[in-house]
Amino acid sequence: MSKSFNLSALVRSNILSLAPYSSARSEFSGSASVWLDANESPYNGPYNRYPDPLQKQVKERLSAIKGVDARRIFLGNGSDECIDLVYRVFCEPHTDNVVAISPSYGMYEVCADINAVAYRKVSLAADFDLDADALLAATDAHTKVIWICSPNNPTGNAFSAEAIEKVLSGFSGIVVVDEAYADFSSQPSMLTRLDVYPNLIVLQTFSKAWGSAGVRLGMAMASEEILSLFNKVKYPYNVNMLTQEYALRHIDRMPEVEQWINSILSERSRLIAALDALPQVVHIFASDANFVLVLVVDADGIYTHLQQQGIIVRNRNKVEKCLGCLRITVGTPEENNAVINGIKSYDIK
Ligand SMILES: *Cc1c(COP(=O)(O)O)cnc(C)c1O
Repeated sequence: MSKSFNLSALVRSNILSLAPYSSARSEFSGSASVWLDANESPYNGPYNRYPDPLQKQVKERLSAIKGVDARRIFLGNGSDECIDLVYRVFCEPHTDNVVAISPSYGMYEVCADINAVAYRKVSLAADFDLDADALLAATDAHTKVIWICSPNNPTGNAFSAEAIEKVLSGFSGIVVVDEAYADFSSQPSMLTRLDVYPNLIVLQTFSKAWGSAGVRLGMAMASEEILSLFNKVKYPYNVNMLTQEYALRHIDRMPEVEQWINSILSERSRLIAALDALPQVVHIFASDANFVLVLVVDADGIYTHLQQQGIIVRNRNKVEKCLGCLRITVGTPEENNAVINGIKSYDIK
């Protein structure tokens, strides 16, 4: 259990008392033959109709895959919507703050800035490990949220369940664990801990292992009480009909998705071994994700050299604790060969 968790004390008072927009589809969602309640066109079915505001069919299917009750699943326009909702629900602008590991995913800080919420960074240890005590020590009475990304972007490593649970049990605010890369990780998902920690929000996404970044669909899994606040604040029809239809079809393709993941994992091992043998590569950090963070002899030079060959990686040379590093996504065998040969052909000065 987390210590003294009191959800209503964490929520912004205007959100707690908010009367949410009541859409036609939330006022009546049963079956009927004549729909004249939403000012929709009678032509161009089925896209003339507003989509299910709570995406019930998609959540039922996801529930079976994730082993999480459908009432504990929220769907957003990418995880990015879920990240923004955390601020809008819990963080009073110009007053509250959040604590996050650094370096980590850039959207946590951008959304904090947009919402005028102070963003407190706690550096990861030299080996990129999580220091639970340092995170807890950075909180104060105005800290509403702690952000943990595991496996972490851009470092690639996953944190132990013990360290994450130390944060969950030592903090009386919300702890978000962003598991965008969980399908590539050897560490267990925190989804199984939802029953134990009422302050836990787990984020996952269709964008990475599930190969669907283009459709914009992210998941937040948490208590029904937390998700009812998300549902009050979100746009009424935040996940469009095309995306919901796509999700239902895509969930039927999970055996294929499993093959993609296995192929990426074996390519990750091969990429690491091949890069490790190159004199241009100084160090490769351990990865639980579909990318590797690589310390090279000249990050800017190699980045430009690759770009000239039409190969784009992410230059992380300016990011805290990632000086000299490139972040390379694991691609197909051909794409990985291209990046290996591209780096190999860089002349060390
Ligand atoms: C890519 C990524 C996401 C995905 O965001 P979507 O909006 O769902 O595409 C979320 N968190 C992290 C850490 C990521 O790297």
